[in-house]
Amino acid sequence: MNKFNDEEQMILSTIDQICEEKVLPRAAEIDATDEFPEDLRQLFAEQGIYSLIFEEQYGGVGASLQCYCAALQKFGRVSGSVSMMVAVHSLGSTPIILYGSEEMKERVFPRLASGEALIAFALTELAAGSDVNRIASTAVKKGDKYIINGSKCFITGGSVADYFCVFAQVIEAGEKKLSVFLVEKDQPGVQISRNEEKMGLKGSPTTQLYFENVEVTEDNIIGKISDGAKIAFNTLNKGRLCTSAQAIGIAQGALDVAAEYAKGRVQFGKSIAEFQAVQLMLADMETDIQAARALLEKSIEMYEAKSAELVKFSSMTKLLATDMVMRVTTNAVQVMGGYGYCKDYPVERMMRDSKIFAIFEGTNQIQRILIAKQLLSEY
Ligand SMILES: Cc1cc2nc3c(=O)[nH]c(=O)nc-3n(C[C@H](O)[C@H](O)[C@H](O)COP(=O)(O)OP(=O)(O)OC[C@H]3O[C@@H](n4cnc5c(N)ncnc54)[C@H](O)[C@@H]3O)c2cc1C
Repeated sequence: MNKFNDEEQMILSTIDQICEEKVLPRAAEIDATDEFPEDLRQLFAEQGIYSLIFEEQYGGVGASLQCYCAALQKFGRVSGSVSMMVAVHSLGSTPIILYGSEEMKERVFPRLASGEALIAFALTELAAGSDVNRIASTAVKKGDKYIINGSKCFITGGSVADYFCVFAQVIEAGEKKLSVFLVEKDQPGVQISRNEEKMGLKGSPTTQLYFENVEVTEDNIIGKISDGAKIAFNTLNKGRLCTSAQAIGIAQGALDVAAEYAKGRVQFGKSIAEFQAVQLMLADMETDIQAARALLEKSIEMYEAKSAELVKFSSMTKLLATDMVMRVTTNAVQVMGGYGYCKDYPVERMMRDSKIFAIFEGTNQIQRILIAKQLLSEY
């Protein structure tokens, strides 16, 4: 049975072509220069990549999550950084998809779907990583507006985004109410600070943001005041599936390179692929990838069916897939010996790109806590 409709199939084969012809040849250079590939952003806009997640009425394709995750695997296979450009478009848009007003969707989605504008998800702060209750950014009501003050860190795409979904505390009657606001980059008081220098995912900017007396009108509240925790939770439930798809893509890319190399590399008079020690590593890598992909497929079905078990499955998928990508890319380097450790081959980059996947969108320790919580409530 084919999982994708004609339009989805067409866009997925366009993505295959883009990945081979445009992304793969650029991947090492993007890593080396650590520069956001604006040319690829233009190409993705022209080719409708940014439109995938939006409904047709807003200029989108209305692709299924399954199709989106298939696309992310394809991008991840050739470049983790480029897969971030696509994934963050969904992460930043999901709060509005799930909770935005119709007026907001009509105002913002056509610009996002065309790729004319990009969006970022601004939750994390210096003192509020895993613990979002510690968010200190405030939004104080003044007349019919809210005034935002505070800062955010580690925001993917922060220096290239046009919109930010900003989580801030509204203080009402002495009570903190975590809420989400749509902020535009050109609004007075928005300051986009430096990009972090990272181990991997170079070219995917990770940025600090500052908000000083930024005025936001009520039509830019996403959902309702107090909805912040719920919006973060449900956005990340979906986001973790996208993150898993990226990780599976990177792992697949590493296995493809390592297996090809193993067949060609001769030591002791035969191809190293003939040594059982190497075969065992390749077998473990393939098994790891297939297991993560199968769990992702199941979790996507649960997402589509709005299953109450999604929280557990989304966290389990993220845990499995993102620990897996570190193992698989490390083994890919091992299979390739000293050549795997050098930049002449992409597995060195893939291994560096992989580490962050067990950290962002909720660390894998936090995923285990979420899984155990739901699991124990079932007994
Ligand atoms: C490249 C990159 C991109 C990112 N993109 C975004 C983005 O687009 N938007 C955004 O909002 N954020 C983003 N982040 C932030 C990311 O989500 C956080 O870094 C992550 O949630 C962890 O927070 P922290 O770094 O403050 O670590 P901490 O929360 O300080 O955790 C440090 C360690 O303590 C452990 N720990 C913490 N609490 C517990 C607990 N209760 N039980 C057990 N262990 C615990 C953690 O697992 C971890 O090992 C990004 C980060 C990076 C590095």
